[in-house]
Amino acid sequence: MKHLAVAIDLGGTHLRMALVSPEGEIVAQKKVMVGTERGEKAIIQKIESLKKKLEQEPHQKATRIGLGIAGIVSSREGIVFASPHFPGWKDFKVGSLLTSQCGIPVFVDNDANMIARGEKGKGAGRDWQNFLMVTLGTGMGGALMIDSEVFCGDHGFAGEIGHMVIQAEGPPCACGSRGCFELYASATGLIRMGQEAAVDGELPGSERLQEIISSPHIDRTARLAEEARKFNEAARGIFDRMGYYLGIGLASLVNVTGLEKIVLGGGISQSADLFLPSAREELVRRTYKKTAECVEIRMAQLGDSAGLIGAGLWAFKNSSSTSE
Ligand SMILES: [Zn+2]
Repeated sequence: MKHLAVAIDLGGTHLRMALVSPEGEIVAQKKVMVGTERGEKAIIQKIESLKKKLEQEPHQKATRIGLGIAGIVSSREGIVFASPHFPGWKDFKVGSLLTSQCGIPVFVDNDANMIARGEKGKGAGRDWQNFLMVTLGTGMGGALMIDSEVFCGDHGFAGEIGHMVIQAEGPPCACGSRGCFELYASATGLIRMGQEAAVDGELPGSERLQEIISSPHIDRTARLAEEARKFNEAARGIFDRMGYYLGIGLASLVNVTGLEKIVLGGGISQSADLFLPSAREELVRRTYKKTAECVEIRMAQLGDSAGLIGAGLWAFKNSSSTSE
């Protein structure tokens, strides 16, 4: 019988789960809303019940689980110390709890680390040993792929690039700091900068901008991108500004880590045509000439599946010595 892993991507809105082969192929997958019940027990129950449904389709039981979740996660201990999507959780030992409930080994890590593993295994970073993974979504995720492994730091918290400070006295961030990178280069950043530009009202198109920003029931960042592509100056200005900050942040990261290859993912990366030119310009301005010449940026290839594929591959990698 072929071994399979249950891969879990636990986000703020959706719980995605898949059965993944050792080669990183998705055999079956399901997605449900996380809903309002966000306590530790409720989430474990939700995962268990979806796992059962998932295993019904190929009539195969998984032999291991890989779980990716946003937040401060110790992969070694399987503990989520804090997650932006589950503010009630405190030092949640999700790894050991799921292991005892499901009876198979569970490997937990930060969602961006899982995405990086997915893009390394099957996506844009397949032929790169070293790269910086950057996901631009509601917030910003990051991972440092070094020698084909995610660098986790002393306690597993490395790669939190979204909380690198870009503006010392910038707006307050949920992490407790101010002016963090993700407050400028993310959907949240685009909306906030859009609000500022609409209030400022200086550039043509500001009224339309105000309309979009004040409509909470639409995908505002997609509308902003649409508007920018119609040459609305105010909307273009926001993406230019985001690119400016993205370039500053990436330049610092490249300078510190020496990682010159970058994979850009997340929903906002679909608007890269609007912000990447200014990001590249800024990156060149803030790095040595030789460094800038070596920088290569690729778009992620696996979309929403990256985290699932990465979680599955990682579960196999971790448990290969114990379960085969
Ligand atoms: Zn922060």
